[in-house]
Amino acid sequence: MERTLVLVKPDGVQKAVIGAVISRFEDAGYKVIALKMLRATREQISNHYAADKEWLASVGKKTRSSFESKGVKMDETDLQIGERIRGWLINYLTEGPIVAMVVEGDGVIAGIRKIAGATSPDMADPASIRGMYSKDSYEKADKARRPVRNILHASDGETAKREIKVWFTEQELHEYQRIPRTD
Ligand code: ADP
Repeated sequence: MERTLVLVKPDGVQKAVIGAVISRFEDAGYKVIALKMLRATREQISNHYAADKEWLASVGKKTRSSFESKGVKMDETDLQIGERIRGWLINYLTEGPIVAMVVEGDGVIAGIRKIAGATSPDMADPASIRGMYSKDSYEKADKARRPVRNILHASDGETAKREIKVWFTEQELHEYQRIPRTD
């Protein structure tokens, strides 16, 4: 069965939407199989957002196309943008407690990224978690030289297995059967 890692970031915890986030996943039919609140170390965040060149460039590329769609040209390379943002992310994710969870279900990786919404909340579907609980944007974040505060992280297909191992041991992943709510 497919699994994904979700982190409710410090702003999500501070906005008291932990329950709302979990409910969205459970209402969509997915199963939470591991859950904890913790204060992450810089090392854990550094492992989570690994300095992988492909990922760094993809963060830069998404940022560039969002800025270009608003008529703003960026001088840095995609990799430079990604490296700058990774540095900011280490501060953001260690500023307060976070909630880590593993969610399981058919097609859960793509399903949860859909429920989470686009990276920049101003572009996210208003019914998505990021669209509902944040008005932040790449522009506001870049001006203040900080990461986009977008409530949660959800793995993509390439990273789920590796990220689950950063936060949970095999013993912390639980097995149980979901039963219909009306039974
Ligand atoms: P996602 O979290 O949607 O998978 P990315 O992997 O592209 O998005 O980026 C990781 C995180 O880095 C984002 O969730 C966001 O907090 C932050 N981030 C990405 N791009 C920018 C940017 N241009 N400016 C500020 N923060 C950014």
